Amino acid sequence: MKQRRQWVAVCCIILLLAAVGFGGFFIGRSMEAGRYQKEKELEIQLNRSELEGLGEIEGKIYVTGHKSPDSDTVGSSIAYAALLQKLGYDAVPVVLGPVNHETAYILEAAGVETPELLEDAAGLNMVLVDHSEYTQSADGLQDAHIISIIDHHGDGAVTTGNQLIYDARPLGSTATIVWLRYRYYGIELDKKTAYVMLGSILSDTKNLQANTTTADREALKELCGIAGVSDTDSFYQEMFKASLSYEGMSDEEIFFSDYKEYESGGKKYSIGCVNAYDEKDAEDLCGRMKAVMPSTLSPTGMDMAFAQVSIFHDDISVSYLVPCNEAAEEVLEAAFGDKAAFSGTYYRLEPSISRKKVLVPAITDILESYPKE
Ligand code: MN
Ligand code: MN
Repeated sequence: MKQRRQWVAVCCIILLLAAVGFGGFFIGRSMEAGRYQKEKELEIQLNRSELEGLGEIEGKIYVTGHKSPDSDTVGSSIAYAALLQKLGYDAVPVVLGPVNHETAYILEAAGVETPELLEDAAGLNMVLVDHSEYTQSADGLQDAHIISIIDHHGDGAVTTGNQLIYDARPLGSTATIVWLRYRYYGIELDKKTAYVMLGSILSDTKNLQANTTTADREALKELCGIAGVSDTDSFYQEMFKASLSYEGMSDEEIFFSDYKEYESGGKKYSIGCVNAYDEKDAEDLCGRMKAVMPSTLSPTGMDMAFAQVSIFHDDISVSYLVPCNEAAEEVLEAAFGDKAAFSGTYYRLEPSISRKKVLVPAITDILESYPKE
């Protein structure tokens, strides 16, 4: 009898010790979680303090991407304007031209309306996403109030005397920077916005295959969860098919569909990027771009124009570089003559190259090496 009582007592003590141990463990864990939560809240509060630094903003804020809008520019404008709205600002996304077929496909799939066209930025509060060049931005920008620049290109010519939020990072898409800025301010993304942003990321990183891809992978994963998209490969295929459709467009419209202007060594030049499905399609488009480019020079005030026709899907990766005239051909010969022979219409490079990372720096190098006139 006595032995049994002793045994019960020992059991009770063991149970008690176990309970105290477990209790302590969980209290410790929840205290740690509480501390973490407080730290997180403080961090968000500190991050948001920069908004006070911007001061009182009178009137609407217009969020715009670059001219010849692409899916990153449009998606990032929509997402950043939504972020500003959630932070209490009167913000709207705008575009500087009609959206391309790929973007139209993404917006329709996401159930989001195409942003309004902005004619002139003079006197307006502006946020620039996906660019920081006057030549690529809204007319009248010199006389606008620039509040923020959110970009993943080199720093451009846009300057402002006032304080601003300038967030430029070497990531694969501006949409990924915008995703980081939602986290930074502790703001949740809604389903439609997440949908548009994942289209932006897939477009700029070419389905995460481009060598510019970085945090975009993580961003895409989270956005897919929010948007309820499980198969990004087939979504990208559909986007890609839509982007290749130049249906109903003139050769000039095709050249201007993904078009940018630059200036180096006192020369102004433009590059239009065009997508092709296969080699036959590419050669056809090269010929058409070669024929149409000379007529674009004088209305745009350019000295030279180039077309970059690329095939980039599955296991094909080729870029055809088409010069508009002999001066442009000389530049391409100096930049790429050792890698490819001129066909009379184009230089064919394999694998395909990035306009931003390879073509523009290469042309800049050549133009800046020319003796000043
Ligand atoms: Mn862009
Ligand atoms: Mn971009």
